This record gives sequence, structure tokens and C-alpha cells, in this order.
Amino acid sequence: AKGRAGAAYIFFDSAMNGATRTRLEIEQALGRAIAAREFLLEYQPKFAAGSRKLVGFEALVRWERPGLGRVPPVDFIPAAERTGQIKALGELILELAARQLRGWLQRFGRLLPVAVNVSPLQFEDAGFSARLLAGLQAQGLPHEAMEIEITETAAIGHLGRVLPQLAHLKSAGVHCALDDFGTGQSSLTMLRQLPIATVKLDRSMIDPLPEAQAAAVVSATCALGRSLGLQIVAEGVETETQARAAEALGCTQLQGYLLGRPLSAEAAGELLAGALSA
Ligand code: C2E
Ligand code: CA
Ligand code: CA
Ligand code: CA
Repeated sequence: AKGRAGAAYIFFDSAMNGATRTRLEIEQALGRAIAAREFLLEYQPKFAAGSRKLVGFEALVRWERPGLGRVPPVDFIPAAERTGQIKALGELILELAARQLRGWLQRFGRLLPVAVNVSPLQFEDAGFSARLLAGLQAQGLPHEAMEIEITETAAIGHLGRVLPQLAHLKSAGVHCALDDFGTGQSSLTMLRQLPIATVKLDRSMIDPLPEAQAAAVVSATCALGRSLGLQIVAEGVETETQARAAEALGCTQLQGYLLGRPLSAEAAGELLAGALSA
């Protein structure tokens, strides 16, 4: 019924502008695309501060639209969240990541963790954490093989549903990272209250380094994070100057175009092969 109403709207409202038309078109196309599994994951490497050794990957989704090319997540994740389709898409993403991890485990005999971005709406279903664990078990994976990333604003806005499931995942060995730290109503007390293993400092905090004010904020966050035993990832590191500053200020991991762009599964596998045999 929803699809028919949408079609009628397109038909009767000739004044609808191009942007709205495109948005509606994406929403309608998304459902078909999820069923047809037109999505793939790229894997951006993460490195240890100091040694610059590979420590894991972040999975980033792309929509491969037949005839239209590759669509970036900013162009469809918000639409998927508006329509509720993020739940089915999120399940598909978790399945794709688990399958890739199984492939790598079979090939190498061991793994480095892959972090998957999870929308807060996926936590609306109280069975989410249990299903994630079941998915790992179905692929014969240790729980530690997968991590999840959840944004700060999302965690705050959905605390009641998110908190118990994060605690469940943590107790089962699935680590959670607080993503995009420094963009929302950031508060350092959040770091203490959430059952997380990692905090990821948003690119907007890393970009101005080594400028003094940004450095002070990064330094304070690192000090508290370290006292809580957290990993602190500098995101969006694009220059060696930023990398050195982030390392000097106490970040424990680096991620960004300087050290590695998002890679195809094949290229990520080659990087992993090198790291595991080193
Ligand atoms: P994010 O989780 O903060 O991911 C980091 C984004 O920054 C990625 O963009 C990545 O390609 C980009 N990036 C990494 N290093 C650099 C750098 O050095 N400089 C710059 N300028 N950019 C860098 P991408 O892949 O387009 O993803 C954008 C956002 O879409 C993600 O932000 C995340 O919020 C969302 N997203 C991506 N994949 C998924 C997914 O599987 N599920 C969900 N729910 N959201 C996803
Ligand atoms: Ca992320
Ligand atoms: Ca981020
Ligand atoms: Ca982001």
C-alpha cells in the first residue's frame, strides 16, 4: 500500500522538485536493492599509533546500482533510516561482514577484527544483539572477530534500548566503539557510562592538529580514555603532521587516507595476508 501511495504522489504532483523526486526514487529502489543484495563492503585499515602496524578494519557499505554505478552511504543510509529499511540493510551488512571474516579465517587461520557501523534503529529490535552473535556462530567465528561502531548522538538518543544490548555484546566479547566523538553533544562522562572499548575521535577534531585548541581537546579525551582502558582512534588522518600530533597527544590508533583508503575485499585480504605473516 505504501508503494502505491508513493507512485500516486509522483503521478499527481507535477510541482514536485527534482531533489524530492530523487529521494523518493531512492527509497523505492532501496527495497528492491536489498532484496537483490546490490551492496558490498569496503574495508578501511586501522593502524597502531607508533608502530603503524595493521590492527583491524572498518567495514563501509557501498550500493552498486546496476547501470548507475557506486552510490556512497551518505546518499542512502539516511533514506534507509527514514523508511525503516535500515533494519533489513543492517542485517545484510552484518551478514556480508561475517562471510568475509569467515573467508579470511579459512585462508589465514587467524584474523584481525572488522568493525561494522550499526544504526541506532537496529537496536529497536531487542533481539538485535542475540542475532548478531548467532550470525557469528553460524560462520564459525569467534565473537572477537567483529566489532561494532555506533555514533555518539545515536547512543545518547537511544540509551534505554542501546545500553543493555551493548552490555550483552561486551560480555560476549564483541567490542563497541563510540564513533564520531566530538561532533554531537560530546561529554566526557559518556565515555565512563557506556560499555565501550574504543572511542573514535571525529575527523573534525583531528583535521586542525597541531593547532592548540584542538590539541587540548584531543589530549584531554585521550587522558580520560586511557585511564578508562579505552583505545582512542584518530579518524580522518590525512597528513603526517596530523598523525604525529595524534600520536604525541595519546591516540592509540590511526585511521585515514594517509595510511589507507577504504579497500576492496581483495585488496584488504592482501594487506591482511602481509600483516599476519610479518
Ligand atoms: P564513518 O563511520 O565516520 O566512516 C568514516 C568515513 O570517512 C568513511 O566515508 C570513510 O571513507 C571516510 N574517511 C576515512 N578516512 C578519511 C580521510 O582521511 N579523509 C576523509 N575526508 N574521509 C575519510 P564513507 O564510507 O562515505 O561513509 C560515510 C558514513 O556512512 C560513515 O561515517 C557511516 O556513518 C556511514 N556508513 C558507512 N557504512 C555504513 C554501514 O555499513 N552501516 C551504517 N549504518 N552506516 C554506514
Ligand atoms: Ca564508523
Ligand atoms: Ca567516524
Ligand atoms: Ca562520520
